[in-house]
Amino acid sequence: RFERWTSGDLISRMVQDTSLIQTTLLTGLMEFVGNALFLVGILVMLFVLDWRLALFTLIVIPVLLGAARVFGHEIQRISLRAQAQIADLASLLRQTFSGARVSLLTALGLVAVVWQGGRLVAGGTMTAGTLIAFLVYAALTIEPAMTISRFYGAARQGLAALDRISEVMNVPEAVGDLPTAVDLPHISGEVAFRRVSFSYEPPHRVLNDITLMVHPGERVALVGPSGAGKTTIINLILRFYDPTSGTVTIDGYDLRTVRLRSLRRQIGLVPQETVLFVGNIADNIAYARPEATREEIMAAARVANAHEFITSLPAGYDTALSEDGVQLSGGQRQRLAIARAVINDPRVVVLDEATSALDAESERLVQEALDRLMEGRTTFVIAHRLATVRKADRIVVLDGGRIVEQGRHDELVGSGGVYSRLARLQLEEVT
Ligand code: ADP
Repeated sequence: RFERWTSGDLISRMVQDTSLIQTTLLTGLMEFVGNALFLVGILVMLFVLDWRLALFTLIVIPVLLGAARVFGHEIQRISLRAQAQIADLASLLRQTFSGARVSLLTALGLVAVVWQGGRLVAGGTMTAGTLIAFLVYAALTIEPAMTISRFYGAARQGLAALDRISEVMNVPEAVGDLPTAVDLPHISGEVAFRRVSFSYEPPHRVLNDITLMVHPGERVALVGPSGAGKTTIINLILRFYDPTSGTVTIDGYDLRTVRLRSLRRQIGLVPQETVLFVGNIADNIAYARPEATREEIMAAARVANAHEFITSLPAGYDTALSEDGVQLSGGQRQRLAIARAVINDPRVVVLDEATSALDAESERLVQEALDRLMEGRTTFVIAHRLATVRKADRIVVLDGGRIVEQGRHDELVGSGGVYSRLARLQLEEVT
């Protein structure tokens, strides 16, 4: 079960709080209940207006929906994979409103209702006014029915997310708060490793006697071959694990003596893969700080170069990120992740640089956002780009769990050691 954590797990662990997802689901549930009540109210109204026509409508619409199922096979085939319970009325409605041919069938249904209503009017058992009122009410059902079918999809996704998160949460943490743990006060961001060794599975040592003193505001790039221990260093800073021997301190506080929440709240994490949650854009940015105001969320998005693309989305910050929500590009997702890290104004930033290639403009926007995120903050970046290590105050070269070289880019290149080879072979030049 102790597989390596994915970024999503990391974030969940960082926040240890599913309240946001719960809130989102609750809001959705309220909306669902509201719409369902509205729908029931309208149905009652239809029966009050003319129960015969209401009955006719209730019979003819499902029959047509059934026909839609038969005729809408192509649409079905595509969505069958995603929606196992195709017979479910909600997904049926959803299909009904999504396919053009099927809409056509809805129009047919309407024609049938109008025709039947017309017969009743002609027969003198219903007034034209009642028919018009009936049709207006019937049209009012479309919007809430669509909202309900949307809620159905979002709720399933949300519940799945909650499930995954509680799964992660229920795996006991390797570490916990001591009864004597104190809240880490507002830090300046001095991070120190003193003779740190670490094993995930003793006796196999992953870090070996690491000593590293990092000043507030310093930018440290961690480089080294895969398996060298870069991620492990970061895991120790976030205290996902405690060192086997030696100490990790921030502002002189041994991380074992402080409350996890107070520590992780003060560290901004930008993982390699951005994980987005069900909810709107604003919720996604404020994930680590649900109490953030809209102004604070917008300020964070501006720093992250995300404000512009967000405001150009259909509902801006309220745009839902759900299964049928907007598709964000890789660069846009990364900028959301940066906004998420900025919102707590952390003194320490931990960044696992994305390796995926972006187009030049996207790359420029992400780099600019990252520069602003790192500005004045102690930063640890697992670097994959030459541009990143060039800007670092210090490059720490790891190999086999040991620090084998340290220095600035020019110094290390000049010395002709491990780094100069790595820089040539592994670091990617981004123009
Ligand atoms: P890097 O980030 O430099 O690629 P890591 O810190 O991820 O290196 O890994 C260092 C070593 O620790 C590797 O040999 C890796 O297989 C091992 N390792 C990493 N995470 C775990 C874990 N959760 N359990 C056991 N071994 C792990």
